[in-house]
Amino acid sequence: MAAGDWQRKMVEWLRGRQGPDDLAVFCTNLAIIIVVVNLFARVSLLGWIALALIVYSMFRIQSKNLGARSRENEAFLKALGPARPWVQNPRAAWTELRTYKHVKCSSCHQRVRVPRGKGKLRVTCPRCKSKFEVKS
Ligand SMILES: [Zn+2]
Repeated sequence: MAAGDWQRKMVEWLRGRQGPDDLAVFCTNLAIIIVVVNLFARVSLLGWIALALIVYSMFRIQSKNLGARSRENEAFLKALGPARPWVQNPRAAWTELRTYKHVKCSSCHQRVRVPRGKGKLRVTCPRCKSKFEVKS
């Protein structure tokens, strides 16, 4: 069986199903981390938790109840709060952290993103238009 054939069958199977969303990917990654930790910890409960996470993630991926899965995924992403970019795309979040600094406007507390390593910058707040200086 050629690789393209397998891919086509996979696409065919996923049609009308939820597929791997953020929550499913998170559960799978968490299960992998737990399995690796358990190589050293050797606690049987951890093994069962990892298995449960994999089963739940498989259930999500093959589910045809798109409305419910989508609502659960949205609630999950909302619950993550500021950790959301670190779960969705850790590499991009890391690049963002290294490239930009986040400062708060001194008058309206709006968060403003400024490039790092550019010396002293004069920033105009996008919300209240007040100007302030930051060391980037
Ligand atoms: Zn402001």
